[in-house]
Amino acid sequence: MLKGASKPFPSLEIVPPLNGIRKDQLLTTIGQFMEFAPRYINVTCHRDEYEYRPAPDGSFTRHLVRSRLDPVAVCAAVMAAYPVEMVPHIICAGLTEEEIYSLLYNYHFLGIDNILALRGDSLKGEKRFTPAPGGFSHANELVEAIRRFEGSIGASFCVGVGGYPEKHFEAANPTDDLAHLKAKVDAGADYIITQMFFDNAVFYRFVDACRAAGITVPIIPGLKPLANKRQLELLPGSFSINLPVDLTRIVRDATSEEEVYELGTAWCIAQCKDLLAHGVPAVHFYTMGKPRNIVEVLKACF
Ligand code: FAD
Repeated sequence: MLKGASKPFPSLEIVPPLNGIRKDQLLTTIGQFMEFAPRYINVTCHRDEYEYRPAPDGSFTRHLVRSRLDPVAVCAAVMAAYPVEMVPHIICAGLTEEEIYSLLYNYHFLGIDNILALRGDSLKGEKRFTPAPGGFSHANELVEAIRRFEGSIGASFCVGVGGYPEKHFEAANPTDDLAHLKAKVDAGADYIITQMFFDNAVFYRFVDACRAAGITVPIIPGLKPLANKRQLELLPGSFSINLPVDLTRIVRDATSEEEVYELGTAWCIAQCKDLLAHGVPAVHFYTMGKPRNIVEVLKACF
């Protein structure tokens, strides 16, 4: 898609809906994006969490907590309803090599050729990331495993990886982080999607640093419109990113949440227009399943 595109296109990321939601509700949300012809939709994947509940004998029993629907089902439902490619995320976290291959079988069965390969995060309370027994410690190992596996089933996946314009929070410094990003590309990644950022200068510096480090694959910027005042505190903590001083100031000065919403949307529109003017191949939007502001950005830019 990136190679054959005559002009930049939008793509979207959705999170699998919470358990209990019906297919029609998800498809109605996604339908609102369709007039802008997104070329693909990413579906995030979330590691299993466990709860320890007290038993009558004083011991604890372990219970699986899975609050969201399975990404395989979400991909199947969306691709059956709309002419759009699905890009499921696969994470190393909590999965053995065999469980990852099982997922790849499912995606290959559905005719899905695109995968975003990620490590995932540590469990709550864990000090550092620990792979599942027989699993992978870093995304480069996952990319290598996908490349090993695809040959054995006659598949050929286009594999993307994540990149961090403001550095991944665990990396000692940007140079180390870039070397690890290059290792993912050398392992066989075809393109990079970035973590969200709110200052395009940060993205342009990152692309320059990637090119200087010998990373030649397409780098797709990831954008998310700021939607409420609370996100001034939540986004930096959750995603290890900075918010520009100017954006922070106008949002703090806003007198209503609706004004914040409009300011955040306008900021994202300006970012997107500037990225397109700089010749990016595509722009990826983190929708969080909420279409209103993303639709406004798509209307203004595509
Ligand atoms: P890695 O590339 O493994 O990097 C993790 C850290 O280890 C970095 O600090 C890196 O510098 C370092 N490192 C990398 N390789 C090596 C190596 N070989 N040796 C030593 N150090 C190394 N999370 C989810 O749970 N589900 C999702 O669906 C999801 N989607 C995402 C989509 C995008 C576009 C992005 C950017 C992130 C997404 N994440 C998701 C978050 C991601 O899982 C976390 O940021 C995670 O902490 C790192 O994942 P990664 O693939 O970048 O890991």
